[in-house]
Amino acid sequence: MKFDTAYSLSLDDKLSIYDVRELNFDETDAYDSDTDRFLCPNDTCRAAFDAGNVLSTFNAKNVNYRRTPHFKNTPGTRHIEGCRYASSHKTATGESEDEREEHFPSEFVLTRRTYPRKTPQAGTEGQVPQAPAKPPSTRTSASVGANDTTPDKTSVFAHPVECYVSNLDDKDKLKAMPLKIGGHTATYWTFFKKIEYLQDNQGLIYWGRIKAIKDYTNSFRIDFEKKVWLDKKPYSVNVYLSKKLIENYRKRTAFLEQIKAAASSARPLYCFFYGVTPALRQVPSKKNPEQTFGVFSADIENLDHLIIREVPAAEAG
Ligand SMILES: [Zn+2]
Repeated sequence: MKFDTAYSLSLDDKLSIYDVRELNFDETDAYDSDTDRFLCPNDTCRAAFDAGNVLSTFNAKNVNYRRTPHFKNTPGTRHIEGCRYASSHKTATGESEDEREEHFPSEFVLTRRTYPRKTPQAGTEGQVPQAPAKPPSTRTSASVGANDTTPDKTSVFAHPVECYVSNLDDKDKLKAMPLKIGGHTATYWTFFKKIEYLQDNQGLIYWGRIKAIKDYTNSFRIDFEKKVWLDKKPYSVNVYLSKKLIENYRKRTAFLEQIKAAASSARPLYCFFYGVTPALRQVPSKKNPEQTFGVFSADIENLDHLIIREVPAAEAG
C-alpha cells in the first residue's frame, strides 16, 4: 500500500513524500526524515495507536531516484478497521503499484510551502518527542496538503513531474487529470510540452532529452537533443543555469549532485522546467565571431522549477 501523505510527528502536520524530500535537501533546515516518525494520515486511525505505529519512507533521500517515492506500511504497521490505508487490498501484481504516482495534485502552487514547527524546538536536535497518541485534530489549516485525504495542491515540482513521467504510457489518464498552474487550468497532458514544440504556447512545462550539459565558469548550459523549427530552419534549444543562482540555492548540495551526475551520465536523461520559455537569440559564432547564429535559449530563474531525471517510458516509446 502506497501512501499519498503521512502525518509527521515532528512537524505535527501532514506531508507528501515530496515535501519530505524538500525538507531533507533544504540546507537551511535541520530536518532529517530518519529522525522523524510518520504515522497514518487518517486522524481516527492514528489516535487509536501510539506513536510507535509508524510508516516507512521510500526514496525520501535519494537525489536521482528511478522509482516513485512514497510512504508505505512496515510489516508491523497496524490500522483500524475501515482505514483506507490498511494493506488488505494488495494488488495482484504486487510490487508494480510502486511504479506509478497515482495521486495527481490538481494544482502546482508556485509559492513554496513553508513548514512551520508547531512547537518551539526545545531539547536535543532531531530528537523525536515521545508524544502520546492524539485525539483527532480539529485544527483547520490553510497549508497545502493539510486535509485528511489526497493532497490536492503541491508546491514541489517533482510531484506533478512524477505523475506525468510514471503515467506517460497512459495518455487517457494524463488527458483526464486536471492541472492548474498560476491561474491557468489545463490537463497534465497539455501542460507538459515537448521542447521541440515550445512555440505552440507560452508558460507550459517544457521537457526534452538532454544532448549535453556544458560546465562553464559562470553557468551550466543544458542542450536539448531536439531542435525547434522556424521558417523551415532548425534551431538548437538550450537553457542556462547561473552558478550564482546555484550557490545561493537552499538545496545547493543536492542540486549539484544531480547536475554533475547528469553531466557525466551515460544514461538517457531528460530536463523538465517551468517558468521560462526559450526564445530565439542571436549568438556569436565561435569559429567566426563576425557571424551570429540563432538559438532558442532561456535563463532559468528558479531552480525549484527545474528537474533532470530519467524517463523510462519515453525511451520505450
Ligand atoms: Zn490508518
